[in-house]
Amino acid sequence: MKAGSSASGFPVPDHDHASCLTEVIVRAAVAFERQGLRLTDLRRNVLEEVAASHKAVGAYEVLERLASKGGKRLAPISIYRALDTLVAAGVVHRLESRNAFFACHVVHGGNRRQIVLACEQCGAVAEVSRPNVFDDIQTAAGAVGFRMSQVLVEVSGTCAACSRSERPDK
Ligand SMILES: [Zn+2]
Ligand SMILES: [Zn+2]
Ligand SMILES: [Zn+2]
Repeated sequence: MKAGSSASGFPVPDHDHASCLTEVIVRAAVAFERQGLRLTDLRRNVLEEVAASHKAVGAYEVLERLASKGGKRLAPISIYRALDTLVAAGVVHRLESRNAFFACHVVHGGNRRQIVLACEQCGAVAEVSRPNVFDDIQTAAGAVGFRMSQVLVEVSGTCAACSRSERPDK
């Protein structure tokens, strides 16, 4: 099994995702503990569904998956609350352009100065770092007296693995 290597962008196809998942859960436990929050069964189950792949998933998809596992059917609000808490803890991010959620596989502390790349073919999401982009945005906004409250950089496209499989001579 290949290592996940998702820290450097998109996951390697056929990597050992179980280790990515374990890493996310461990990081969540630490983040929750530090913030004095409880990683309840619901929060943990929701996190496990979001982190089950490197794809972004919608809240209803999480709800359906949990229900299909034989658990009791949860109210959407419970899922949204659990997601909000996971997002606030920094272990899950919201993909605003698609109203979906993905697990964070990179250690970047509290700052969200990450460029989010979302593949339109396979749905995989990766975060890459290029702080200058955010400095430039700040400079441009500041030049017109604009005070920023939130900056999100989300890019849609095709990941390298999908580009490769698109080639006819594959
Ligand atoms: Zn993985
Ligand atoms: Zn992240
Ligand atoms: Zn892809």
